[in-house]
Amino acid sequence: MIVELVSVGTEILLGNIVNTNAAYLSEKCAGLGLFCYYQTVVGDNEERLHSTIKTALDRSDIVILSGGLGPTQDDLTKEVAAKVLGKELYLDEHSKERIKEYFNKRDIMITENNWKQAMIPKGAIIVDNENGTAPGVIMEENGKIVILLPGPPNELIPMFEQSIVPYLKEKTTDVLYSQTVKICGIGESKAESMIEDLLKKQSNPTIAPYAKTGEVHFRVTARALDEKSAKKLCKPIVKELKSRFGDKVYSTEEDVTLEKSVVDLLLTHNLTVSTIESCTGGLLAGRLINVPGVSEVFKTGYVTYSNKAKRKFAGVKKAHLIKHGAVSDVVAVDMAKGGASITKADVTVSITGIAGPDGGTEEKPVGLVYIACNVKGNIEVKEYHFSGSRDKIRQTCVASALTFMRQCVLKYISEVTFGRKEK
Ligand code: ATP
Ligand code: MG
Repeated sequence: MIVELVSVGTEILLGNIVNTNAAYLSEKCAGLGLFCYYQTVVGDNEERLHSTIKTALDRSDIVILSGGLGPTQDDLTKEVAAKVLGKELYLDEHSKERIKEYFNKRDIMITENNWKQAMIPKGAIIVDNENGTAPGVIMEENGKIVILLPGPPNELIPMFEQSIVPYLKEKTTDVLYSQTVKICGIGESKAESMIEDLLKKQSNPTIAPYAKTGEVHFRVTARALDEKSAKKLCKPIVKELKSRFGDKVYSTEEDVTLEKSVVDLLLTHNLTVSTIESCTGGLLAGRLINVPGVSEVFKTGYVTYSNKAKRKFAGVKKAHLIKHGAVSDVVAVDMAKGGASITKADVTVSITGIAGPDGGTEEKPVGLVYIACNVKGNIEVKEYHFSGSRDKIRQTCVASALTFMRQCVLKYISEVTFGRKEK
């Protein structure tokens, strides 16, 4: 079935508010197996709203309108939608009672125009609003469905989840199932080129690439009559992606972030961690501490921004700072080495770089970053060249540090497992 979203409100057209309702509803509708081919924004204007609804009904099975259900004169979604479907409005006593209750509870005087919200198109299904006064409305006519939802997201979202999802589930036959293959340590275009053949021949399931800072996600989505069959369709593609990207795949679970996968790895192998950060100013520690349960492994996070702090808290050699500068592989290694001996962590990660916008030179441009990782005395260091704003560079640093940590720990574990290293 084809669904069309119509967001009503001049303030959306003017850019005064961001159309989060459309983003929310389209994601939900896709999850229900509905095809969304069109989304429209239309202002609070009777004529244009009328023609928008008519057009939507011509090309879609379900039209979901949001906004314009309020009590004021410019709220005209319900009146216009009823007109398009040729339905008259009547005063619904149940809705009137609920509105009365809503105001009484809050000790607010009811004004006459509020009863406008209790006016319902004849034959419509009324959807009670648990968080506001405007009821939702569902109208069925000639095999088409028109759904009216209140504009405020705190009213629309619960109403959609509680009442509209079960209603739409009854109307649809297909289900969608998605699984995301999450990859780190490889750029978007390289990752896409590695599965070009799969992307070209995709139909059911589809493979949608999403680039995130320092990560690439491939969302595999299958459509079938039931979830079990949809899962079965996804399985071989997910398996193929895993085999192509090998240990660059850090998870296929919806709720596992890059930092969670790193923390889980440390937890599994009983390795503690410390961070010694310069240009990222604690962002790496912050991302690790996003993960519940990290206290088992996270020891200390230092922000050693000045040279003095680098010497004092991470034991960086003065001579190295003078000879190589704070942004250098030698100093990154010093930080990871000195940091480990001070914090006694099994894994110590250091970051030093130039986040910009100032401070770059020809030799050391903005975006130059060194990350070092010390896993029980095995130190590796990597040079990076990032671009973008200060914020972008710092976020990319953190994602790269997580990826690098993961690689170093995996390498260490495999060497221990294969007997080349003492544990
Ligand atoms: P009200 O009873 O508050 O007038 P309504 O159903 O008439 O509700 P609108 O007047 O269109 O809805 O919008 C009310 C508020 O809801 C807006 O000021 C805005 O904060 C929010 N809102 C409306 N549409 C959207 C949207 N598409 N995305 C996000 N927020 C929205
Ligand atoms: Mg309004």
